[in-house]
Amino acid sequence: MLSNSASQIEAKPIDFCRVCLARDLEKILDLGKQPLANSFLKQKDQDEQFFPLDAYLCENCGHVQLGTNVDREGIFRNYLYFSGPNPGLSSHFQKYAADVKQHVPSWQNDLIVEIGSNDGILLKEFQSPQNSILGVDPALNIESVVPTMREFFGSKVAERILREKGRKASVIMANNVLAHTYDLHDTVAGMAELITDDGLVVIEAPWLGDMFETNAYDTIYHEHLSYFSIMALQKLFEQFGLVLVDLEFQPVQGKSFRAFFGKNRKPSDFAQKIVTMEAQRGWNYRQAFAMLAKKIRRSKNILLRKLDDLKKSGESIAGYGAPAKGNTILNYTGAGSYLDALIEGMPSKIGLYAPGSRLPVVAREAVNPDAFVMFAWNYRPQILEKEKDFKGEWIIPNQIESI
Ligand SMILES: [Zn+2]
Repeated sequence: MLSNSASQIEAKPIDFCRVCLARDLEKILDLGKQPLANSFLKQKDQDEQFFPLDAYLCENCGHVQLGTNVDREGIFRNYLYFSGPNPGLSSHFQKYAADVKQHVPSWQNDLIVEIGSNDGILLKEFQSPQNSILGVDPALNIESVVPTMREFFGSKVAERILREKGRKASVIMANNVLAHTYDLHDTVAGMAELITDDGLVVIEAPWLGDMFETNAYDTIYHEHLSYFSIMALQKLFEQFGLVLVDLEFQPVQGKSFRAFFGKNRKPSDFAQKIVTMEAQRGWNYRQAFAMLAKKIRRSKNILLRKLDDLKKSGESIAGYGAPAKGNTILNYTGAGSYLDALIEGMPSKIGLYAPGSRLPVVAREAVNPDAFVMFAWNYRPQILEKEKDFKGEWIIPNQIESI
C-alpha cells in the first residue's frame, strides 16, 4: 500500500499519560512538524501531511510519550511493509525463541501467543506437535506463515482467544509492539487476562536509555507513541498484577530491552538495579531531558557544519540507508539539502522518495559519492564490513562530538 494524498489523516494532541493517566505532562523535545516517517512517496511532488513531532514527560511515573496522536488507521493505511534482507534479524529471532523456551519449559504443550506477529517468523520457532501457536496482527498486507488473528490486541481480543482456544497462554510475546500501542491499559489488561498463573509475558522494546547514551533521538517518529524506561514499564504492568521477573538488554536495532512479566513472582534484582540507576540519572525529571535536548541541537549543528564544509570543498554526499528513523534526522536537521540521494538495499524502497526531504531512494550501484551519511548507524559494523572498499568519508548523523 502506498500513501494516498487524497485522504486526510486525523491527528490530535494527547493530554494524559498512557501509563499512569496523570494529566500533568511536560514538553521535553520538539523536532518540528514532520510527515510520517514510513510514508515514502511514489512521486517527488506528491502532497504530504505534516504533524507536530514532540515528546512529553510525565514526572509522576517517568513515562515519555509523543504529544500528537496520528490516527492509527491512517498510519496503517500508509504503512509500507518492506520485505528483504534485514541484517542479523533472523538469528536474533532464533536466539529470542531459545531464551523464551528456557524461561517457560512447558512451551511445547501450551498455547503460545505473539502480539504484532508480522510475518510469523518468530512464532514459527515455537511450532510443536502438542502445542498451539497464534499470532495477532492487524496488518492486512502481510503474508503470515502461522495462524494469525487480524486484530489490534486488547482485552476484547484476549477474551475471544480464551473463548476460541478454551485455555490461557503460557507465553505472550510482544516484540516492538508496546511503543506503537495506543491504549496501553487495555493491552496490558488483555495480557493479564490471557496469561496463565505460571506463564510469562515477554516484552521487547527500544529502551529510553538509548536516547541518553547514544543520542538515538531518531527512534522518535509518529509510529512510536511511547519511549519506555524500565521504571515506567514496571509501573504500567504492576497496575495489572504483573511483576517484572527478569530483564535483559539486546543490542538489536540500537539498545532494546527484553522484559519478562509474571504473576505472584519475586521481582528481578537486576531490574530493580536498573530502575534505581534510571532514577539516579533523573530520567523522570525534566532537567535530564533539557540536557538531552541540548545534546540533540548540538548534534544537528555538528552535522550541518560538516556537510557544509564538504559541499564547499566540492564533494558529493549521499545517505547510506533509508530507514524510517533516518527521516526523523533529515526532517529535523534539514540535512537533505546537502545530499543527492539515499542508497538502500531493500528493492521495494528503491524508486521511491523519502518523506519530507524528497530525496530519491536508489540502489547502491547508482551513486559513488565522496562521503556517506550513515542513517542506518545502528548497523555500523556490518555496513563498514560490507563497504570496506569505499574510500570516502563516513558521517554519523547523530554524533555529539566534533570530528
Ligand atoms: Zn504517568
